[in-house]
Amino acid sequence: MECDLQEILSLLKEPKEADVKIIEKAYTFAKNVHNGQERFSGEPYFSHPFETAKILASLHLDTATIAAGLLHDIIEDTAVTEKDIRKEFGEEILNLIKGATKLGKLKYHGVERHVENLRKLFLAMARDIRVILIKLADRLHNMRTLQYVREEKRKRIALDTFEIYVPLANRLGMGYFKGELEDLVFPYLHPEQYKIVKKISREKIKESEKHLLKVKHTIETELAKDSVKPLSINKRVKRLWSLYKKLKDNEMQIERVYDLAAMRIIVENVEDCYRVLGIIHKIWKPLPGRIKDYIALPKLNGYQSLHTTVFTDKGKIVEIQIRTAKMHKEAEYGIAAHWAYKENVAKKSWVSNPKLAWVNQLLDWQKDVSNPEDFLENLRIDFFEDRVFTFTPKGDVIDLPKGSTVIDFAYAIHSAIGNKASGAKINEKFSSLDTILNNGDIVEVQTIKDKKPNIVWLKNAKTTLAKKQIKLSLKKYGYIPSDTPEKNIKNIEKIEIIIKAENRVGLLKDVASVFSEFRANIENTNSRQEGEFKIINLLFTPKNHIQFDKIKSKLENIKKVREVTSRIRL
Ligand code: MN
Repeated sequence: MECDLQEILSLLKEPKEADVKIIEKAYTFAKNVHNGQERFSGEPYFSHPFETAKILASLHLDTATIAAGLLHDIIEDTAVTEKDIRKEFGEEILNLIKGATKLGKLKYHGVERHVENLRKLFLAMARDIRVILIKLADRLHNMRTLQYVREEKRKRIALDTFEIYVPLANRLGMGYFKGELEDLVFPYLHPEQYKIVKKISREKIKESEKHLLKVKHTIETELAKDSVKPLSINKRVKRLWSLYKKLKDNEMQIERVYDLAAMRIIVENVEDCYRVLGIIHKIWKPLPGRIKDYIALPKLNGYQSLHTTVFTDKGKIVEIQIRTAKMHKEAEYGIAAHWAYKENVAKKSWVSNPKLAWVNQLLDWQKDVSNPEDFLENLRIDFFEDRVFTFTPKGDVIDLPKGSTVIDFAYAIHSAIGNKASGAKINEKFSSLDTILNNGDIVEVQTIKDKKPNIVWLKNAKTTLAKKQIKLSLKKYGYIPSDTPEKNIKNIEKIEIIIKAENRVGLLKDVASVFSEFRANIENTNSRQEGEFKIINLLFTPKNHIQFDKIKSKLENIKKVREVTSRIRL
């Protein structure tokens, strides 16, 4: 493989000298640091980042993204450090590379395989949507070269692609990526069906080739008569995976699939779309119920186009799709297409779907900033505010509700870790157990052998799991750890007070009046005689520790009271 830099540069639209310089530098840098490394295919490793960057360049993404594509594997696979990258390429490119590296390390260890969570995680973790585009390009190239990977790993990678990357591409409206990824996955997941569908497709396409040429010619002639100038009229062949799905829905009857091969007409503007539709219907009769106006009513992922299926001569049936160049680009490249346009983004296509509200939000931001560079800088994803995704040092994901602390993290790993937790290193920094965790934190819990849970943890824990475990363990130990700070008593629900006194007339009344003085309700009380002493147990919920301290000292000052102790009730 040549890996000619020119292949990338030629994809840039009106590149500035500075952009070319950065890409050149990234190219040389990556090529050097990957020198000597090989892929499974035996090719130099550099061919992978090179192809990844080429995909990104073909999407007309910005220079930083293309450079990051070239450099995306260097943190993981070479001796280059973050410091080096920052020095050579600056913070923005470093962050893109770091994001892509982090996503590459993800393993999700849920109770089951929680695919939806993993997808969310991707979005939440990426923070910058360009990181996802880099990961998609990376995955696309890895899938294109999957045959070189060890056989037992292929199916796993294909399944991950199908469950994670395909829906992501779909969600981002990137039809081209979705389509190619699906077709790349297909032979690994369903090898038998793949062969069947491929054969059917090949035969049918061959059969229809001549006919479609004639159809194309007729359309060209008729459009010219009405002086409509299409930008292109092309045959579009249904992708294999999508054909397979359709065949399955139709009892594998290929005759019922009308859109195996379709004509796609690209025109200048929306008016022309409808004009062309009218002209087509004047030539051929449409199949009832198959005229679809996805321009007025876009699909959920924003797809826009006019579809019609017509009877051409000799009872043949052909689907025709009509759309503008912009619609086409958006259908193929989705969110990535928006970078290519300097002009205002056509928002319409995204609007109607509440599931795509976040895309709308992105587009709104884009509209607000006149400078596309600002837009890129502000492109942050905060759509999963209710969860934080954190990591073990090995890269396993622990997903927690927002506001969770190290304690929750420790118990999420294992109750034995939770019970003995003493502190943590968060992103290499020593932190206390009550530290609230943020998205992307790498947490290493530290334990002490004889450590026991502290009552205070109950207030610092957010998850039910952690709370339950703490309570269980506190009950088991049957005492309040001596390191429970007095001030934290306010965090405790119920307090039992035990008063030891020499019995005398009016003792109970004096005790009760202390509580009424502080307007504290006694929930439960009992007393018993123990030798020469009267033992009074009281259960109440203090308003705060000041109130508690005052009550306690007042009780201690009651005549004949020897000792006042307190205990936390769980
Ligand atoms: Mn890679």
